[in-house]
Amino acid sequence: MQELPSMNPTRIAIVGCGGFVGVHLVKQMLDLGYPVDGWDLEDRRLGELVGHKDFCFHHSDYSAPETIDDISKNHSVVIHLAALCNPSLYNTEDQRVIQSNFILPARLAEACAKEGSWLVYFSTSEVYGRTVSGVARGMGIEVGESNELDLLTEDSSPLLLGAIGSRRWNYACAKQLMERYLLALEVSSQLQWTVVRPFNFLGPEMDFIPGVDGEGVPRVMACFMDALLHGRSMELVDGGGARRCFTWIGDAIDGIIKILENPQASRGQCFNIGNPKNETDICGLAARMAGIYTQITGRDLPNPVWKNVSAESFYGPGYQDSDRRLPNVGKARALLGWEPRMTLDDTLRLTIDWFVQHYPVSH
Ligand code: UDP
Repeated sequence: MQELPSMNPTRIAIVGCGGFVGVHLVKQMLDLGYPVDGWDLEDRRLGELVGHKDFCFHHSDYSAPETIDDISKNHSVVIHLAALCNPSLYNTEDQRVIQSNFILPARLAEACAKEGSWLVYFSTSEVYGRTVSGVARGMGIEVGESNELDLLTEDSSPLLLGAIGSRRWNYACAKQLMERYLLALEVSSQLQWTVVRPFNFLGPEMDFIPGVDGEGVPRVMACFMDALLHGRSMELVDGGGARRCFTWIGDAIDGIIKILENPQASRGQCFNIGNPKNETDICGLAARMAGIYTQITGRDLPNPVWKNVSAESFYGPGYQDSDRRLPNVGKARALLGWEPRMTLDDTLRLTIDWFVQHYPVSH
């Protein structure tokens, strides 16, 4: 076990330990021998981790002032994951989205600044908003395909959100303000911080299947699995032309551990954690998933395999899509020696396999 800096030898706090990223991170930290204190309202994914001798689970949120005090005073490393981070909520649960992504974490950051603890804050790749070329195209300006123009770089790309009425951007705006607040607290009170910008992590335990272990609309992978498991057509929002880089959760966790183990290199930095080689448009994702699903299960595909739906009918008014998220991971490579490895097909195969094992099929 590598000695975490200034650990002394206190425990690591993970706020929001029960979500998809949280459970993978808790498991990896415990496997590496780091004791963890975790907070979450959800515990269904944690399973037997809750009984682990080095894991202390608090079945609560962290909003109470005494909880924020406990976290910041008794932990020299605090990892913040607790957030409403599902696109179907951004234009329907606006107030809670802004509270969970800015107002509450801002209080925690102030406490960490006061106590001298290091806050590792999970932001989002969505802070980049739309690409320059996507905005230009939206204005009717012809722009050719350009990876160079679209590549999202932590310290130089502009963050292009939409108008206030495009409520989809509430989440990205709250995350962006939080990132700016961390920097402000560094200047005013020497806060030690690191920001992680995740690019569409995938893997076991991701999201939920509506009506089985959650309600509402999950992210795209779980929406497509829900359709495949129930023999329904996958729905392509506005034709499925948006592009994403899907990143294997194991690669992402390796990146986070590298951040924690390299504080000198990672404090005061934002890092893209994503796999630029795993880019696909959403229609291409549906096609790959359909192919892998039939290989794994031998079951028939729905007819039609996919169909188009409008964003307005799928998400309601105020949704606007992020057209492309292509991460530049040069900084994580240079400062942390991190490189994502898992291909898109292997990422999908492992994740689909988990869904098939884990959920009942009804067709
Ligand atoms: N999407 C889709 N069908 C679905 C769910 C999502 O076409 O059933 C699209 C969505 O409009 C977006 C992309 O898939 O273009 C990724 O959506 P997701 O909810 O996974 O999160 P995001 O990457 O936008 O944060």
